[in-house]
Amino acid sequence: MILKWIASLALFVMPMLSSRAAIVTLETDNTRIGFDPVRHGAIVSLVDKTTGRDFVSRKPTAPLLYELRFNNAPSLTESNAAKVTVQRDGNAVVIVARHTNATVECRFTTDVSTSLILGRIAIRNDTGHALTSVRFPALAWPKKMERDFLVLPRNDGCLIQSPGTVGWLPSSVYPGSASLQFLAHYDDTAGVYVATHDSHGFTKSFGVEKRGDDLRLALLHLPPFAPRGEWRTEYDVAIGTFHGDWQTAADIYKRWAVHQPWCRRTLAQRVADGDVPRWLAEPSLFYAYSLRSSSGSRLPRVPEEAAAWCEQLGAPATMMLMSWEKLGPWVTPDYFPPFGGEAAFKSATATLHAKGHHTLVFLSGLKWTLRKKGGSDAGMLDDTAAFERRGAASAICGTNGPPQRWGKPDADVGEHAQICAATPLARELLLGAALECQRLGIDCVQADQIVGGGLPPCFSAKHGHPPGATALYRLFDEIRREGKKRNPNFAWAIEEPAEFFIPVLDTYHARDYSQGRWPRDGAGVIGVPLFTHVYHEFVHGYGGDSCYVSTDSSLTALYQQAMNLVCGKAPGVAVWNRDYDPRATDSAQLRLLRGHVELWHGSAREFLVFGQRVATPPLAVPQVHHRFHVRTGQPARELDLPAVLHSSWKLPDGRRGTVFVCAAKDPVEFETGGMKLKLQPGEVRFVEHGTLKTAATKKL
Ligand SMILES: [Zn+2]
Repeated sequence: MILKWIASLALFVMPMLSSRAAIVTLETDNTRIGFDPVRHGAIVSLVDKTTGRDFVSRKPTAPLLYELRFNNAPSLTESNAAKVTVQRDGNAVVIVARHTNATVECRFTTDVSTSLILGRIAIRNDTGHALTSVRFPALAWPKKMERDFLVLPRNDGCLIQSPGTVGWLPSSVYPGSASLQFLAHYDDTAGVYVATHDSHGFTKSFGVEKRGDDLRLALLHLPPFAPRGEWRTEYDVAIGTFHGDWQTAADIYKRWAVHQPWCRRTLAQRVADGDVPRWLAEPSLFYAYSLRSSSGSRLPRVPEEAAAWCEQLGAPATMMLMSWEKLGPWVTPDYFPPFGGEAAFKSATATLHAKGHHTLVFLSGLKWTLRKKGGSDAGMLDDTAAFERRGAASAICGTNGPPQRWGKPDADVGEHAQICAATPLARELLLGAALECQRLGIDCVQADQIVGGGLPPCFSAKHGHPPGATALYRLFDEIRREGKKRNPNFAWAIEEPAEFFIPVLDTYHARDYSQGRWPRDGAGVIGVPLFTHVYHEFVHGYGGDSCYVSTDSSLTALYQQAMNLVCGKAPGVAVWNRDYDPRATDSAQLRLLRGHVELWHGSAREFLVFGQRVATPPLAVPQVHHRFHVRTGQPARELDLPAVLHSSWKLPDGRRGTVFVCAAKDPVEFETGGMKLKLQPGEVRFVEHGTLKTAATKKL
């Protein structure tokens, strides 16, 4: 009897013991990942081997491998699978989970060359409900870390300081608000890194969520809408650990990124062979200037403004003509004739060209203004009837069928719909408007409001959507080719960067200077030049439409203009409809803008226009307290930032250099590479490493 009892106990205990011992692991030189067969293949450890740090929470709860979400049906995770097998297959671990009407296969392997763990997921869905998102891999790690930062691929790049303590953590859709495909969380000891290696622009969302004491990875793959069938990631998910900061994480990503189709040619090669017009790589001040103002049309003043800046800086202007549209700012697609009439508009652009200046306008993406209050010169604008007649059949639809509407008539760009990029109407509107702008004398046309090449998902069954971001890519490609056929100086831009679209862009609208405001809004958010760090040598960017400039001394203006310089952007400042005399610009700002132009004219040009940004260690300089304006009625974003901003650059021949800018109200003295430098407010300096050659600004 006793023997029988002991035997049954053994039978009961032994599987438990053996399963505890049977955590299935995969490892690289840096990282070890563990899957627990007893817990349905859950990822129960992710260890940084150098430090022994385990990034998986001690008391993790499902999902810890995947979570499938459906339209009108409960979600599924590995924990509610009826049967799960975890097996080794050579150097891979394969987990197969069977649910009542779905089967999920997860496969993990290692990449010796990169020390990353690679994963894929495949789903057979027979539920009759469309998959709306696939969270994979589901990871959870403790939110409490010391002096920690979350790196998010949001637009130009974001850090979030102490993410476990802030209320809201942004997530970003790729392509779109996510300009690259990785995120990381690190502190002084180690960091966790997650990326996707997708060359085709499949839709996904990058984020991290707070759940109890944990941060949870919200890497969501967003499949096309289909109630049943097979779906799989056509790309690897990469997981690793590292030691360093956001630049270290960006360098891990860059090792993959430079082999992608969008990095086939560098910006230097593209300018040399005429793919990107040379004028973009020469210094010019991008100047955002509204044609409408409370005192009437400013179109006649455009050439004078350009001339005034040229006189101050010794470089032409690229006049960003804002509020140029026929009916009012951001009213689309009924743009023409432009504000002031075709003849006056063409005359202004011709005068600018005769003096060596360039011109830029924004198109409101693929939006269709339905109703806009006060936006039209005639008061309330209502274009709903025209949209119903001509646009509705081609508009982006929600899951319930009819065209989606966004916005309110009395706010921002007004109530609007969006035309689906896969439809012939998208081509007709965007290509047509771009070529018409070109005919009116515009050199650079920007698809504004298609931020990072992102459009909302379209669920119309009638449009015939090609996979991923293909439709928009083809459209941009055609617009560039048609524009350049007519004039090789034609340039095409979008708002905010996007790796996937690099080959079909001449430049992009950057906001490396932004702090506290979109796309760097939210508690704890600090803007860092993440996209620039990975891609500067492949794509041109310009200093945006909201870099401040003033006649009074302004720390914000100095910081923003300095960021444009140290992030390798063409200089840009904005006045919109403010009355502004370029000749009265504050002396430190003028010194900075002149310095920027001189460096772009001189030997630093190769580095700052075409070079590769490299990891830049901090500089021993005082901190300056900044108060960045967020929005009327909201507290300023307060940040302590270095009094001297700097960044290091590398050329293909191995030469390296560092640019320094004083963004403080008093002169700053500091040491770098055994040299003592003293910079006046707004003064810039470029130091080529290994030489004493410096390109300094002339004393003002
Ligand atoms: Zn569509």
